[in-house]
Amino acid sequence: MAEFTLELNDDQKQVKEWLHGFAADVIRPAAAEWDEREETPWPVIQEAAKVGIYSLDFYAQQFFDPTGLGIPMAMEELFWGDAGIALSIVGTGLAAVGVLANGTEEQIGTWIPQMYGDADDVKVAAFCSSEPDAGSDVASMRTRAVYDEAKDEWVLNGTKTWATNGGIANVHVVVAVVDPDIGSKGHASFIVPPNTPGLSQGQKFKKHGIRASHTAEVVLEDVRVPGHCLLGGKEKLDERLARARERAKAGGERVKNAAMATFEASRPAVGAMAVGTARAAYEVALDYAKTRSQFGRPIIDNQGIAFQLADMRTRIDAARLLVWRASWMATTGKPFTSAEGSMSKLYASETARDVTAQAIQILGGNGFTREYPVERMHRDAAIYTIFEGTSEIQRLVIARTLSGMPIR
Ligand SMILES: Cc1cc2nc3c(=O)[nH]c(=O)nc-3n(C[C@H](O)[C@H](O)[C@H](O)COP(=O)(O)OP(=O)(O)OC[C@H]3O[C@@H](n4cnc5c(N)ncnc54)[C@H](O)[C@@H]3O)c2cc1C
Repeated sequence: MAEFTLELNDDQKQVKEWLHGFAADVIRPAAAEWDEREETPWPVIQEAAKVGIYSLDFYAQQFFDPTGLGIPMAMEELFWGDAGIALSIVGTGLAAVGVLANGTEEQIGTWIPQMYGDADDVKVAAFCSSEPDAGSDVASMRTRAVYDEAKDEWVLNGTKTWATNGGIANVHVVVAVVDPDIGSKGHASFIVPPNTPGLSQGQKFKKHGIRASHTAEVVLEDVRVPGHCLLGGKEKLDERLARARERAKAGGERVKNAAMATFEASRPAVGAMAVGTARAAYEVALDYAKTRSQFGRPIIDNQGIAFQLADMRTRIDAARLLVWRASWMATTGKPFTSAEGSMSKLYASETARDVTAQAIQILGGNGFTREYPVERMHRDAAIYTIFEGTSEIQRLVIARTLSGMPIR
């Protein structure tokens, strides 16, 4: 088991430098354009694929880094470049993790490569869980998957919303209800292969931030997928459902779970994205404060500005430490007994929201314009307190874990 250390090893330092170079030279210069266009930045994804940043190999290497720091370090650097473009680059990873976590070896080998495509023909993937009436309350999901035994096919019907890469993905991973009586324990995940009839894109959302990342509804109308598209396989599902039904019967209650466990493992990664955006805005603000003069001296000469920068940096470093702790715990199999994953996402996302707002203030009128990047960074940062469990849900998870009480 990897000892916890705050010092990156030589390999990690090299990867960090490489990613930082890509973020600075390729992502950051393209950020304003793709934010305005509100379109998936295919040429940038392709560039990332060419150098090996957009690839299964790269994510697998970071994911399986025994120290747990590979993913947070990669996320921080890419999102430092730009959040919208970085999400377009790493969005496929959420679907890939869904398959890695639940799929058989054969499913992993078959579907993950199709999610990424290759440098000459890049593809993306989507993870579709949220629905119009099931956001935080995942257990209210309505999309149904019914097994057609005669054909060994699953039939999916429902509407998914907010899917990153939804409708433009080569492979969609769809979470659906197979047993409505046991809440979220009756959910299962399915692969919807490329060009499957019945899957279509609903509305594409025009967003406040991360506008280079495609977010859309996904409509499923009698979508038939082969039996082998059930992640983990039927036998495992049947066993799991039988256990959950027994437990539900013993407890005499419908098992209900408000998005609690679903994204626990990916939460530190979202925290790391937030750290990247916060650090980017802080750096712009620090630079500006040292060069902008008013009243005959740089504005950083005023404690009112300098102390804000001190607080911003302190919060960013604290957020990173929480993220690294949680990632290390998750990778080394230590249970989140105090909801450390949620703590890291909560603190880092609120830090990004606040630090980017402070950066606008420090840049004054310039901060409020699109001539400077902090305005975009602040719009982008707003997503972190919302997706993969809102701040309120994180507080609920933390409070319930600490108290053992069914706090509502
Ligand atoms: C840009 C973007 C990309 C996304 N990408 C994906 C994706 O790829 N795949 C996917 O499946 N989903 C995705 N999501 C969905 C995201 O995870 C949900 O938006 C999020 O979980 C919140 O759900 P909701 O929007 O329905 O809000 P709601 O659950 O309706 O919440 C509304 C408000 O009520 C609060 N609230 C709800 N319940 C409680 C409670 N019990 N106690 C206190 N407060 C509460 C919430 O905190 C929030 O402030 C994405 C969303 C966005 C905006």
